[in-house]
Amino acid sequence: MTDLSTRTPVVARTRDELQVARAALGDGDVAVVMTMGALHEGHATLIRTARRRARHVIVTIFLNPLQFGPREDLSRYPRTFDADMEICRSAGVDLVFAPTPDVVYQDGDPGVRISAGPLGDVLEGQARPGHFDGMLTVVAKLLHLTRADSAYFGQKDAQQLLLIRRMVRDLDFPVDVVSVPTVREADGLAMSSRNTYLTQSDREVALCLSRALKAGAEAAPEGPSAIRRAARGVLVAEPLALIDYLVLVHPTTLEDVPEWYRGEALLAVAGRVGTTRLIDNLPIRVGPGGGALEVFSDVHAEPPAQD
Ligand code: AMP
Repeated sequence: MTDLSTRTPVVARTRDELQVARAALGDGDVAVVMTMGALHEGHATLIRTARRRARHVIVTIFLNPLQFGPREDLSRYPRTFDADMEICRSAGVDLVFAPTPDVVYQDGDPGVRISAGPLGDVLEGQARPGHFDGMLTVVAKLLHLTRADSAYFGQKDAQQLLLIRRMVRDLDFPVDVVSVPTVREADGLAMSSRNTYLTQSDREVALCLSRALKAGAEAAPEGPSAIRRAARGVLVAEPLALIDYLVLVHPTTLEDVPEWYRGEALLAVAGRVGTTRLIDNLPIRVGPGGGALEVFSDVHAEPPAQD
């Protein structure tokens, strides 16, 4: 329900406007939620989590050309700025930074970029060469421009989250990274701005991804091969989903876990349904008493909630 007491966020489109609006928030305890727009309940949950924990919340809305390949969906990506603003307003956002590419990349394509390294070449990185370098480069820039103390990211994009944590650690960014569990539709489909591309029948097909993850999680007590078998069983029953990968990997190395492995692992899937590439994942505890986790315990370093 919309809270009428919340104020319309300040909108900054230029660096100067951002600097003025950011200065007005003062120093300390400012959170940022970075998005590409077309906001949905997943984004709103990130914003509300940040809102509960930080004094001020900045949302960035920026469709970053650097992280899209030449044959990807940059030009058709949904743009819904007015609806996005309404979500930001009702979730209590203080400041929305919504620049155009020439504001972010003021000298054109940056010659110096962040390299994701080997973890950026596997899974999504294999399907989307250069994607993670482009993503990390804009995340680094937006962290600098917003001077945020904490940054909130969704578990939905598990490899992105891992790489951001690595960048922050490897390059000593002074920011707390907080992960938020994946928000799903009632039928299990992970929320995504790209779900708007799905036809009604595509949407039915797309459910096999989350169902496969769920089946895998249910087999978690039996070990890695049982998990992979259970998940694959669901996917092969849906030939209209063109699966790119289904993996059970270590949460920080992204390497396949061996059969003897017990502990936390990432069960991740990607595939094409109709014209749309979809990804989904579940953090899982493998072994006795195992099953689905919301987020990984060892990397889920949330700051204490504010009173
Ligand atoms: P995007 O606009 O797709 O770049 O996503 C912006 C942020 O929202 C990223 O941190 C995503 O991981 C997060 N996000 C997107 N979809 C979901 C979801 N269904 N549940 C939780 N977080 C999400």
